[in-house]
Amino acid sequence: MNASPAIIQLKDVKKSYKLGETDVPALKGINIELKRGEFTAVVGASGSGKSTLLNIVGCIDDPDSGSVLVDGVEVTKLDDDSKSALRNRKIGFIFQSFNLVPVLNVYENVELPLLINPDIPRSEHQDRVSQALKDVAIDHLAKNLPDQLSGGQRQRVAIARALAGSPALVLADEPTANLDSVNSHRIIDLMLELNAKRGVTFLFSTHDEKLMARVSRHIQIADGLIKA
Ligand code: ADP
Ligand code: MG
Repeated sequence: MNASPAIIQLKDVKKSYKLGETDVPALKGINIELKRGEFTAVVGASGSGKSTLLNIVGCIDDPDSGSVLVDGVEVTKLDDDSKSALRNRKIGFIFQSFNLVPVLNVYENVELPLLINPDIPRSEHQDRVSQALKDVAIDHLAKNLPDQLSGGQRQRVAIARALAGSPALVLADEPTANLDSVNSHRIIDLMLELNAKRGVTFLFSTHDEKLMARVSRHIQIADGLIKA
C-alpha cells in the first residue's frame, strides 16, 4: 500500500499529563523512525517515558503535538473509530502484566483480537491461532486457563495473541519486567527468532541494561528525550 520502508515515523512528539494543577511532561520532543523488519529496543529508567511513547505509537494515547505516521498514515488526524480500526489491523501489543482474560482459555485469548479484525475471515481463525501457539511453543496448552500457567508461559500466550493477526508492528512494553532472568532471556530469544524467521517488526521497551545488550538497535530515552 505504501512504498516507504518506514513503518513508524515520529516528529517532535510532545505529551504532558495533568496532575492536579501541574503539568507533568512525559515526552518533550521525540523524533524516531522505524523501518519494517527492524527489532528496536527503547531503553530507559522508570519514568523516562517508555510507556507513553509506546502507547502513542500504538494509537492507545494521543500526543499533545507533533506528527505520528503509522505505515504512512498520520494518526493524529484520525477520529477515534479510524484509529481503533488501524490499531486492530496493524498493531499487536505485549504488556508487562500479560493482560490475558482470566476466564478465557489460551486458545480463546489468542483468538480475541482476530474477532475485532475485519480483515481476517472467521474461517482463518483456527489455523492462525494454532500457528501462533506453535510459534511460541505452547500449542499443548491451548485448553488451559491463564492461572494454570507460569509467568513465562503467560507471556508466550500474549506474544501469540499479538502475532495471530500478522500485524505490521508488534509493541512490547517491558515484556520481561515480571519474569525471572532465565525466562526474560527466553522471551527475548523468542522475539528475536520471530523477527529473524518471520520478519516481525518489534519495538520493545526495557529498563534492564542487560537485556539491551541482546538487541542490535537501541533508542535510549531519559526524561522524555531521546539521548544521542
Ligand atoms: P516509563 O514507562 O518509562 O516508566 P511513563 O511513560 O510511564 O514512563 O511515564 C513518564 C512520565 O509521565 C513519568 O513522570 C510519569 O510519572 C508520568 N505519567 C505517566 N502516566 C501518567 C498519568 N496517567 N498521569 C500523570 N502522570 C503520568
Ligand atoms: Mg512503563
